[in-house]
Amino acid sequence: MQAPAKINLHLGVGPLRDDGYHDLVSVFHAVDLADDVVIAPAVRSSVTCEPADGVPSGTDNLAGAAAAALRRRRKTGSPVAISITKRIPVAGGMAGGSADAAAALVGCAALWGIETTRGELIDIGAELGSDVPFALTGGTAVGTGRGERLSPVLSRIRLHWVLALSAEGLSTPAVFAELDRLREIGDPPRVGPVETMLAALAGGDAAAVAAALGNDLQAAAISLQPGLRRTLRAGVAAGALAGVVSGSGPTVALLCADAESAAAVAAELAGSGTCRSVRVATGPAPGARVVG
Ligand code: ATP
Repeated sequence: MQAPAKINLHLGVGPLRDDGYHDLVSVFHAVDLADDVVIAPAVRSSVTCEPADGVPSGTDNLAGAAAAALRRRRKTGSPVAISITKRIPVAGGMAGGSADAAAALVGCAALWGIETTRGELIDIGAELGSDVPFALTGGTAVGTGRGERLSPVLSRIRLHWVLALSAEGLSTPAVFAELDRLREIGDPPRVGPVETMLAALAGGDAAAVAAALGNDLQAAAISLQPGLRRTLRAGVAAGALAGVVSGSGPTVALLCADAESAAAVAAELAGSGTCRSVRVATGPAPGARVVG
């Protein structure tokens, strides 16, 4: 199974609600940076991950939780060993855990011979985490609510990215709490209307997409990891059209004009000392699916 990472091309965060959540308007974009998730019949259920740093095992792992949720809902399903090869940065704002959960849902349904629809898997996925429905769907989509209500976006363009990975992860709740704090004491920048991004994608012009990139969580992520400002500057200085913190960060996504430019930006950024490592990726990519 392969499960794609996501970048938020646009992320607008509404005020803190009474229930502790925020309403979001997000343009999700799946890229071809993916975890490999192998699901095999076993005597006892297990989840292992390589490398394992920062990733829980068993049903604390979102992939294990997904298998358990499908088993509960359908009242069927033999034990499975889930092995994850992690390529999506952990706690990186690219929804790697959600991607693994999506892969586990699709993979277990296939292994257990469960007749299901994407709609049913999306329902189960939404209960596991608000980014799981998009990891099932892939492509480019607008998400509303907590990000789980999706509608596909007409996009006529292949986007070329350089991803700058940070040495330390960021906790998503901590970044939202930091945004609430910044909004109490001041007026951190807010993204413009989502329509600007949708028009740029429909128009098929990478420069217009670059100009429309925006994330309300960026100020909070930078406040918690001030070095991200240097990474963003270094990426643009190296030739990227623009950069944005992905989701709750700390991964920085730099949009480039084409594949050649992305390779050059990646090489220069890798030597800049402003990030742990770099990856080149393109999107849109398909949602969680069986490969090989
Ligand atoms: P979010 O989806 O909230 O934006 P993120 O992309 O920043 O999260 P993830 O790598 O998805 O970060 O994981 C966040 C936390 O979830 C990790 O720190 C880890 O403790 C836990 N987790 C559970 N299952 C997984 C998994 N399969 N892969 C990675 N992390 C997982």
